Amino acid sequence: MKKEKLVILGGGESGVGTALLGKEKGYEVFVSDKGIIKEKYKEVLLHNEIEFEDGQHTETKILSADLVMKSPGIPDKAALVKQIRAEGIKVISEIEFASNFTEATIVAITGSNGKTTTASLTYHLLKQELNVGLAGNIGDSFAKQILEKNHPNYVLEVSSFQLDDIVKFQPKIAVLLNITPDHLDRYDYVFENYIASKFRIAENQTKEDYFIYDADDEVIESWLQQHSVQSTLLPFSLTKQIDNGAYLDQNNIKITIDNNQIIMPTANLALEGKHNIKNAMAASTVAHLLKIRKQTIRESLENFQGVEHRLEHVLKINKVQYINDSKATNVNATYYALESMDAPTVWIVGGQDKGNDYQELFQFVNEKVKAIICLGVDNEKLLKNFGNMVDIIVETQYMTEAVKIAYKIAKSGDNVLLSPACASFDLFENYEDRGRQFKDAVRNL
Ligand code: ADP
Repeated sequence: MKKEKLVILGGGESGVGTALLGKEKGYEVFVSDKGIIKEKYKEVLLHNEIEFEDGQHTETKILSADLVMKSPGIPDKAALVKQIRAEGIKVISEIEFASNFTEATIVAITGSNGKTTTASLTYHLLKQELNVGLAGNIGDSFAKQILEKNHPNYVLEVSSFQLDDIVKFQPKIAVLLNITPDHLDRYDYVFENYIASKFRIAENQTKEDYFIYDADDEVIESWLQQHSVQSTLLPFSLTKQIDNGAYLDQNNIKITIDNNQIIMPTANLALEGKHNIKNAMAASTVAHLLKIRKQTIRESLENFQGVEHRLEHVLKINKVQYINDSKATNVNATYYALESMDAPTVWIVGGQDKGNDYQELFQFVNEKVKAIICLGVDNEKLLKNFGNMVDIIVETQYMTEAVKIAYKIAKSGDNVLLSPACASFDLFENYEDRGRQFKDAVRNL
C-alpha cells in the first residue's frame, strides 16, 4: 500500500516530535521550515532518516501532502497555509495528531495566563499516585512522549494556536483558566475569535467529560450563557459558593464533586497571590476527579516549588525580597503580581508593548509601588501613564543597572519586583533570558 504523505510545517519541538511519531506510524514524512532548524533537531531528523528542508518551503512537495501538521507558531495568514487549505489538504495541530495514537486520559489546560503554572501544579499532584506525563508547551512534545513513554495519563498545556487546528481532540478533563485579550494579531484583532478558539478545548467533550473553568471570569461566563457545552461543568470561584466544583469559603478552598468534599486551608499553599488560589483550585479539582487521596493533594499543594520566572523568589538581601516575574508579558499577569505584593515595592517594568492598557494597574501602583524602573527601548507610554503616580521613575536599557538602582532605592522590608507586562524582545532574547539576567544581577549585588 502506498504510504500516506505527512508534511510538517515547522521543525521545532512539536514538529520534530510529530515527525518521529508519524514515521513510526507508517507515514512518509517531510519536514519543512522557512527559518533555520536548530542543530539538535536536525540531528534527530538525520538520525531517524526523516527528510527535511530549512530556509525554504518547496511548494510542490508540500502541496502533494495527504495531511499537514502545522506548528503553532505559523499563522493561518501565511500564504502557504492558505494555499494548502485551498487545495483541500487537511491541516491539524500536533495535539490533534498525537492524540489519535493514545488511549491515555488527557487533562488539557488552557487560558490566557497561568497555563504553565497550573499544568505543572496539576502534574505535581497527579504524579504522586499516577503514572502521568507532562507535555504540550512544556518540555518534550506530546507526540514524542506518546512514542517513547506512552503514559496512561497526560497533563497538557494547550495554547489557542494548538486548539485552532484540532478536529477530534477530546480531553477527559479540560481546564479553562481565564480569557483576556492576547495574541489578537492572530485572530484578525477580533476578541470573539480568540474566545471561540479557547472554547474549542471543550468542543468534542461529552457529558462523561469534565470542563473546569473560572466562574468569576466574565468573558467565560457570558460565552457559556450564549453557547451550549456538552461537558459536565465544574466551575471554580473566589467569590461565590459552588455546590459542584470549587470555591473559597473564608480561608479554605472547598471542592465538592458528587458530594465528596475536600477542604484545604489557603494559608498552607506554597504559591502566593489570588491568581494562584485559582490555579490551585483548578489543579486540585483535577486531582480530586482522578481520585488522588485528599491528604496527598493537601501535602503536594504545600510543597510545590513553583515554576521559574513566575513570581519566583530569588533572594533576600538586606531584608529586601527580590522577585522574578519575567513571564508576566501582559498587563493581566502583572495585575496579579502587583496585587500579591504585601510590602512597598520597587517595580521593574517595560519592554515591547503589545497595545497595553495600563489603567487596571493604577490602583495597585498607587497603593504599593514606591518607585518604577522602566526597562525598555521605548518607555514613553510608561512615563505617561505612571509619571505622576510615584516619586521616583527612572529609565534604563540594562538589567544590571535596573537592579542596582532598585537596590539603592529599596529599604528593609520592601520588595523588588520584575514584572514587565510587556514582551522581552526589544532588549532580550526571550522572557527566560530576561529572567535569568535579573537573577544573575541580583546574585551579583
Ligand atoms: P502561561 O503559561 O499561560 O503563560 P504562566 O503560568 O507561565 O502562564 O504564567 C504567566 C504569568 O501569569 C506569570 O507572571 C504568572 O505569575 C501569571 N499568572 C499565573 N496564573 C495566573 C492566573 N490564573 N491569572 C492571571 N495571571 C496568572
